[in-house]
Amino acid sequence: MPQENLAEVLSDFSLGAEQLEPECNLTLYQDGTRTVLFDAGSGPDFMPTAGTIQNSLSAMGIAPEDITHLVFTHAHPDHIWGTLDDFGDPLFANASHMMGRAEWDYWWDPQTVDTIGTARQTFAVGAKNRMSVLQDRFEFFEDGQEILPGIQAVSSPGHTPGHMSFEIRQGTQAVLVTGDAIGNHHVAFRRPMWPSGSDQDAKLAIATRQRLFDRIMTDDLAIAGFHLPNGGMGRVDVIGDGYEFVQDPT
Ligand SMILES: [Zn+2]
Repeated sequence: MPQENLAEVLSDFSLGAEQLEPECNLTLYQDGTRTVLFDAGSGPDFMPTAGTIQNSLSAMGIAPEDITHLVFTHAHPDHIWGTLDDFGDPLFANASHMMGRAEWDYWWDPQTVDTIGTARQTFAVGAKNRMSVLQDRFEFFEDGQEILPGIQAVSSPGHTPGHMSFEIRQGTQAVLVTGDAIGNHHVAFRRPMWPSGSDQDAKLAIATRQRLFDRIMTDDLAIAGFHLPNGGMGRVDVIGDGYEFVQDPT
């Protein structure tokens, strides 16, 4: 990123240039029949403050076995490592596991661990390990497909090769589950055209980000973002050349 301009953006958010640790927020959707969890979280082994999804579900009276569908945006550690319990068995034992076909194919490919670069090698090993255990539970989908009633897959590659977002619609109201395609509430919103080191293909991620923001504004979508603050739910406003995350008050 243009470092001389970065400080200016971050100062608007009272953030310094030191390492930032964003929240990890999973989206839960219940339609009366299905209980759908978007991403599985990281489990306890990723970072000390993460891996609390079971407590969060329990607070709502939901057990892991009650999840009917586990839908993945992508296969990074904070999104897929939480699929197995402490014994290495499937945590969401009754859930259909669902992933975009291109994302599955990328991490399943035995060459990925050698081509992804040293910084992300553990991502590749960790994803493949979990996918190998859960292989028989997975169903795959494509861009544009209605994967469940009212839930449409929206291809959003760049952060990972097969990253998917999801539009959940009921009548005129809809929310876009963005995953990591819009990765934070500061730089990704204010300067969506800047490359980010957290995206595997930065150029493709920029095009995706701009396309998603266009769709959010045109279709007046609410959003649920994985790494956005205070639960990650809200709306988007235009500000200057970029956007602003407007926290959902509820
Ligand atoms: Zn993430």
